Amino acid sequence: AALPSRISAIARQRAASSPDAPGLHEDGRIWTYAQLALEVDAHAALLRQLGVRAGDRVMVVGENCMAQVALIFAAAELDAWIVNVNARLSAAEIATIRAHSGARRVLYTVAASAEARQHAAGDNATTHGALMTGPLNEACTPEPVDPGNQQVAALIYTTGTTGHPKAVMLTHRNLLFIAAVSSTLRGLTTQDRACGVLPISHVYGLASVMLGTLYAGACLYLAPRFSAAAMLRAITDDRLTILQGVPAMYARLLELNAAPLASSLRFIYAGGSPLDPSLKRQVEHVFGLPLHNGYGMTESSPTISQTRLDAPRTDTSVGSTIPGVDVRIVDEAGADVAAGVAGELWVRGPNVMKGYYLEPALTAAAMRDGGWLNTGDMARQDLDGALFIVGRTKELIIRSGFNVYPLEVETVLNAHPGVAQSAVVGRTVAAGNEEVVAFVEANPQQPPGEQELRDYLAERLSAYKCPSQIVIMAALPAAATGKILKGQLKALAQDMSATKA
Ligand code: ATP
Ligand code: MG
Repeated sequence: AALPSRISAIARQRAASSPDAPGLHEDGRIWTYAQLALEVDAHAALLRQLGVRAGDRVMVVGENCMAQVALIFAAAELDAWIVNVNARLSAAEIATIRAHSGARRVLYTVAASAEARQHAAGDNATTHGALMTGPLNEACTPEPVDPGNQQVAALIYTTGTTGHPKAVMLTHRNLLFIAAVSSTLRGLTTQDRACGVLPISHVYGLASVMLGTLYAGACLYLAPRFSAAAMLRAITDDRLTILQGVPAMYARLLELNAAPLASSLRFIYAGGSPLDPSLKRQVEHVFGLPLHNGYGMTESSPTISQTRLDAPRTDTSVGSTIPGVDVRIVDEAGADVAAGVAGELWVRGPNVMKGYYLEPALTAAAMRDGGWLNTGDMARQDLDGALFIVGRTKELIIRSGFNVYPLEVETVLNAHPGVAQSAVVGRTVAAGNEEVVAFVEANPQQPPGEQELRDYLAERLSAYKCPSQIVIMAALPAAATGKILKGQLKALAQDMSATKA
């Protein structure tokens, strides 16, 4: 079917077809689709009053709330680019994004976020109803509006797992495509109540969760940030039917309640980082449902593959490609490898980004002839199409000429009862030679000893895969989405060897 031209059409069409159906829930309050459309009008009027024009970047610093949703649609109707930033980022990180995006206005969703209030105070912001706004940036130059299908809807910064966050330009077409596919593959109906705890400032929360849910006319239960206790309460009290999260969220939920959970849930899903097989099994036991898995990246809006409702997996396959999207798995020369062989994953389809903003060289480096995007991930694909992520190309550790995939070592570590989660990185010891360093977040109930983990790994892995150093921490550094920031750990591993020497 033909897609509408702007993402705001999702809210508009539902306001026309099911005006009285609940669309958003925040802190005990419901907005019907008709009320949501009025909020979009009001926020669009505010943006105009604040001097926002077509092609401007509008930055929103906040945590999931109705105002953030309304501003996303309002900016879309002005042909402005929305730049959502999580209020939990530091002032310095926010300043970097603000400068890079050249935002004309910054708005703070102060009603729903203490962090947003703090940032607003630092920006001498003025109050506009439930929002605060920073001063106008006169130097903002509007980007040309693309009357074709390539108008940018959102500028989204990647997690920064491997380095500095990159500014991904996603078009209305990119986001509408994922909204439609996500909603269809989840079998969403107007009766569904979906958990909206994943940050809308990231693409998973924006496209797959928020837009996917509203596309189906279901109700999105917004939560400003994740708390395992609050989520368990919401599952029961709000009778949620759909749960989308990252693996770390499910791990937190399990720590709270090991008893099987009777609930209204019908679909639970993890994505965004590798799903550990032992975690998957435990979650399935507690929830009494298959835990679906999906794979993607900011640059692909994000979904590339997911497991299917009617074909859940018992292994950790990330499923097969979503309809309309193609993948190739290639060797270093760019030639297709045979089924079952690991190689670099390339993706092509309506989900692939327009490019990195202001970074033509970086864009050219990621794109291949014929519209293929190199994901930078290593994967293998079975004959039946099931994809398995092996790890990131960049994270591959070369130790004395042997390849060590961090994910393999992490998977073994995570199966130890004393390990809540782990991250394995390489530390350069000489040109072309690295050693393996493991960071372990201890399970507070039964923290492991370092020697105990060493012996455990030695029994299960070849010697060259065993870490030279194991660092046990109370918590691993994580992004607002719960993803582990491995770049920080890699730097830390390098520093630790410098101090040792
Ligand atoms: P940066 O690009 O800034 O280093 P990032 O790649 O972590 O950060 P995102 O776009 O948020 O930023 O994450 C996409 C990456 O997350 C993918 O390239 C892949 O490595 C990993 N990933 C996502 N989903 C899964 C999954 N289900 N299983 C394994 N890995 C996953
Ligand atoms: Mg990336």
